[in-house]
Amino acid sequence: MSLEEIASEIKNCKKCPLFRSRTNTVPGEGNPKTEILFIGEGPGQTEDKLGRPFVGDAGKFLDEMLASIKYKREDVFILNVVKCRPLNNRDPLEDEVGICTRNYLFRQIKEIKPKLIVTLGRHAMQVFFPQLKSISAVHAKAYKKAGQVYMILYHPAAGLYQQSLKETMKDDFKKITEILRLIDTK
Ligand code: URA
Ligand code: SF4
Repeated sequence: MSLEEIASEIKNCKKCPLFRSRTNTVPGEGNPKTEILFIGEGPGQTEDKLGRPFVGDAGKFLDEMLASIKYKREDVFILNVVKCRPLNNRDPLEDEVGICTRNYLFRQIKEIKPKLIVTLGRHAMQVFFPQLKSISAVHAKAYKKAGQVYMILYHPAAGLYQQSLKETMKDDFKKITEILRLIDTK
């Protein structure tokens, strides 16, 4: 099963109620050979319209932070927890997250086999670390679980309107390269 095949399954998916509120599915995109996989929450309005992840204001900030560590978005892979937009950008429900991740996200990760998974925001964090409640205590730290290294970051949208958080996020982002180097020397 290839990433393309998974994306075409997503296109026709009606496995959870979110299919009703979508214009386009957003399966994710990037370099399948990437070392770094970013996982956001779910499509917003612009993403739903274009069928691509992180192409609105939060996406611009993400691109900026990627550039600060000398990456383009084409170098990495960008996925979301859910592939269809929840109406009015409400949080995805536990059931929706469960169904979508079991059917797609976990299979996509197996195909990409990244060295490092960077979670963006609480929803992505809790897919892998359901026991963690708040990002503030754990952001920019590396965790290893079942052989996979993870790093937890705030969601880029959170930094858009809060200057102090924006600076924290920029600093956090720079630690990605450090963590990658550490993984390489292990
Ligand atoms: N926010 C997300 O979590 N994902 C996107 O793709 C865009 C905004
Ligand atoms: Fe299917 Fe996921 Fe969309 Fe729900 S959110 S309809 S599970 S692709």
